[in-house]
Amino acid sequence: MWKSLATPKALLFSWKCLHDMVPTRVKIGKFITLPSMTCPMCDSGEETLHHILLTCPYSQKIWFSVSLACRIVFFQNLTVDQWINYWFLPPDNSFIDSNTWTTYCIAATWSIWKARCRKVFTNCFTEPLDVAADIDLTVAKDLKGNSLLQHSFTSNSHDISFWIPPGILNLKLNVDIAFLSAEIDIGIGFILRNNMVMFLSAGFSRGHAATSEEVECQGLLFATRWCIQFKVA
Ligand SMILES: [Zn+2]
Repeated sequence: MWKSLATPKALLFSWKCLHDMVPTRVKIGKFITLPSMTCPMCDSGEETLHHILLTCPYSQKIWFSVSLACRIVFFQNLTVDQWINYWFLPPDNSFIDSNTWTTYCIAATWSIWKARCRKVFTNCFTEPLDVAADIDLTVAKDLKGNSLLQHSFTSNSHDISFWIPPGILNLKLNVDIAFLSAEIDIGIGFILRNNMVMFLSAGFSRGHAATSEEVECQGLLFATRWCIQFKVA
């Protein structure tokens, strides 16, 4: 665990999870009387560590909203120990390497707990999408300089792409082009999102290209023209 690229605070929190030292309501309720044992984030279950990590709908939504689009509902039958041990192995058939997966698990768990504490102590609810965007940024920052961002994913990872949000007040336009051969029309698609992972616009076009290099150029040209036309800064 300590070899992970996650921040020291996030690592320490993971260590507390592993040793059952997280002060959840159920944990504290064994020693003092609390007005409620219910999870403050979803109001649908007792706040145990297992609930926070795996079964809380709030946590599940965050996990699904990060770039990995992970469905932790598939892991909810694991114990806390089993789940944490799983952090050090990438999911089966995953496109992601174990270092990146581990960093995501540690960073996401820490961010979820911080969001929980904000709600409990300041009554400030953070939307799952906002927490997810923060996790993506944190992981990107943690991995920066280790060239993992560039090499973490295998070249055949067509199903899920690793999307890094743009900086604050910036927008990101992702363009993808389908090309089979010079005899078949190409397909160009794009999606525009902001740094909060909010969908802003999307579109598509068709065209023709003789080579894969020309395809890439046409995609970029289409996206640039679209930005100019719609005055996207
Ligand atoms: Zn909950």
